[in-house]
Amino acid sequence: MIRAILVPFRYGLHSSCLALLALTAGCGPRPAAEPASSAKPAATAPAPAHPLAVTALNDHILYFFDGRDPSGKRFSADWNWLDDAAMKLGVGTYVIHQGDRALVYDTFTQPDQARWVRDTLEKMGIRHFTVAYSHWHLDHVGGSGVWADVDVIGTQATRDTLVRSKADIEAGKTWGPPPITPLTVPNITFADRLDFYVGDIKVEMHRIDIHSFDTNVLYLPAEKTLFCGDALEDVLTYMVEIGDLPEHVRNLRKLREWDIARIYPNHGDPKVVTSGGYDKTFIDATIGYVSKMLAHSHDKDFLDGKMEDYVGESLAKGWVHLFEPYRDVHKQNLKLVSDYWKSRPLPRL
Ligand SMILES: [Zn+2]
Repeated sequence: MIRAILVPFRYGLHSSCLALLALTAGCGPRPAAEPASSAKPAATAPAPAHPLAVTALNDHILYFFDGRDPSGKRFSADWNWLDDAAMKLGVGTYVIHQGDRALVYDTFTQPDQARWVRDTLEKMGIRHFTVAYSHWHLDHVGGSGVWADVDVIGTQATRDTLVRSKADIEAGKTWGPPPITPLTVPNITFADRLDFYVGDIKVEMHRIDIHSFDTNVLYLPAEKTLFCGDALEDVLTYMVEIGDLPEHVRNLRKLREWDIARIYPNHGDPKVVTSGGYDKTFIDATIGYVSKMLAHSHDKDFLDGKMEDYVGESLAKGWVHLFEPYRDVHKQNLKLVSDYWKSRPLPRL
């Protein structure tokens, strides 16, 4: 049985639209993300402008998605973390739930989005919430104020970073505006491993240094499902800790050895996520991109390298999927890699 519920949702200060809540009861084929236009419009609400949606991936995993707005609405015209490091690329968050309990994996970029998630879950009868952070980056903790009254799990490294940066993040100084007020820091931490149970669903939390030193990925052993945070991104990884890229490649190779049937990223193609998720070739694509960037970082024309020069083969194989806004991320990656590695010996990978 499929139920569709229209959930009003206002994003930021500048747009309002509807979220289509498509919930399946029981275990059947995963529903594809229904285009917003297929929803029956509410009498007084405008038609949704983009596929902002929550989708049941199965009977205990929900996928919330926002961003990739074709209208191009922005928080501000200048580069800013909310528009350029998050919303234009698209942001997904996940909820693992059973009975009246839920584990929420990341809090979106803004309180309004997090409120949408919480309201949706409460309407489903969920009363006991725990939040887990994938890492400290602002596009993952921006909605954390909505979860100030519940337990929040993160790696010790995530907590330490957020405690140290709290005043600056709340003042909009860390990555510039918008500020995040208030910021909720994890009150439950672990160094490398933690097991958590949502009812009887076992969720393994693993710290792994990929993308960010404090990354916490979730693994559901019963169904071999990995929630990778930003350790993997489709089309290509957003590089931040440039000196650690060789370590990221080593850890991606270790991750490749895990028994993984499907991968759900926070920045990925909603069509792939809602059609069964990614397989381990997503890891191969990321290893290939980072390795090739490092290998060519001493080339004279390195800064002219196109996205396709680095991910063309993975695109052709269907391991990742073309999305134009990632050209800007790739350009930024080229500059950062060049600045850091041009005067250093190339790492052995
Ligand atoms: Zn992110």
